[in-house]
Amino acid sequence: MNKLFIKDIDVRKKRVMVRTDYNVPLDEDGNITDDTRIRATLPTINHLLDEDAKVIIASHMGRPEGKVNPKYSLKPVARRLQGFLKERAQVIMADDCIGPKVKKQIEEMRYGDVLVLENLRFYPGEEKNDPSFAKELASLCDVFIQDAFGNCHRKHASMIGIDGFVPSAAGFLLKKEIDYFEKAVNNPMRPVVALLGGAKVSDKIKIIENLTKKMDKILIGGAMAFTFLKAQGFGVGQSLVEDSMLDVVRNLMDISKRNGTKLYLPVDFVVAEKFDSRAETKVVPFQEIPEKWIALDIGPATTKLFTEALQDAKTILWNGPMGAFEFDAFSRGTYAMVDVVTGSHASTIVGGGDTDMAFHKSGKTHEVSFISTGGGAFLKLLEGGNLPGVASLLDKKT
Ligand code: AMP
Repeated sequence: MNKLFIKDIDVRKKRVMVRTDYNVPLDEDGNITDDTRIRATLPTINHLLDEDAKVIIASHMGRPEGKVNPKYSLKPVARRLQGFLKERAQVIMADDCIGPKVKKQIEEMRYGDVLVLENLRFYPGEEKNDPSFAKELASLCDVFIQDAFGNCHRKHASMIGIDGFVPSAAGFLLKKEIDYFEKAVNNPMRPVVALLGGAKVSDKIKIIENLTKKMDKILIGGAMAFTFLKAQGFGVGQSLVEDSMLDVVRNLMDISKRNGTKLYLPVDFVVAEKFDSRAETKVVPFQEIPEKWIALDIGPATTKLFTEALQDAKTILWNGPMGAFEFDAFSRGTYAMVDVVTGSHASTIVGGGDTDMAFHKSGKTHEVSFISTGGGAFLKLLEGGNLPGVASLLDKKT
């Protein structure tokens, strides 16, 4: 990465603000159901504690729309962070994220302790990238560390505005995400194969377009496949199709042929009488989806085809489930791919939405090389786009 890294900048005995993405899922009682995003920032926090810095955590949570709403307080996150840090540091929860009271708390806190600021989105200035809000935030610290990879596609005050007021660098998580992505997509060990699924072609069109320039093979599963099949004149029954994308998809198939990227489509499906986990199901070849039925998962012949296509891969990139995997009856294809990917010797990068959920559910998160913590930001990178939250950091001196 060509941006200043936390280790390139003096943080010893400084007030250091770390922008994290602690937008973690909560259950109805406000308990954190997945703390991956908190755990992922520990290398940065531990480094700053080693350097005896005052660590000031800034994050958003949910969509409170610029108003204080206790439902979106970062208090549960502060408690979980204390659990991770144990005796190493005291984690203090602030009542606000800017203002004189917070300033005083920072003055009075000990070096080597952590202060968690309250939700940045309680102020409308955060999402509007209001310069006065960014300046207020910047006034709380001497150094700013960006570690909120999952939010780096957003042009918010704490993502791009603050960098204008205080020296800024990337944290460990941000650097790991960017470096891994670069290695997997822009400079991969070949053959490099993308496994793409999910619901809508329109959401993923830019990704497929970009990847046809970079991948050796692209395997398309999920509901996206039906628009590809219909574009070639096949009937797809009641399966999800985007008719407005048929020409776009035909064009994409031409581009990938020209670029020498091999596109694989499913050869069979699990079809159901209706979109219901208790509905009658059967497996049919792709040309034989009954008119009144809906295809909700890839079938066993497709699993075999995709497994073979992944056999010689040295790098695998996966985004999007192969079927409506939230329902047991239509999850087999996705989990079969989890097995193939975790059993492969290839370097594997997974991310952008629901795919990581399949790994979490299968308990195989540790068997994959890298699972990105970023949804939208990861998708933006897959599209070949730039991340404003990264671009605004200081450049590395050459
Ligand atoms: P995305 O957010 O675009 O990655 O899409 C994920 C969603 O696609 C999941 O909720 C899946 O249930 C859904 N999905 C995948 N395959 C199918 C399918 N064949 N029919 C309907 N929904 C599907």
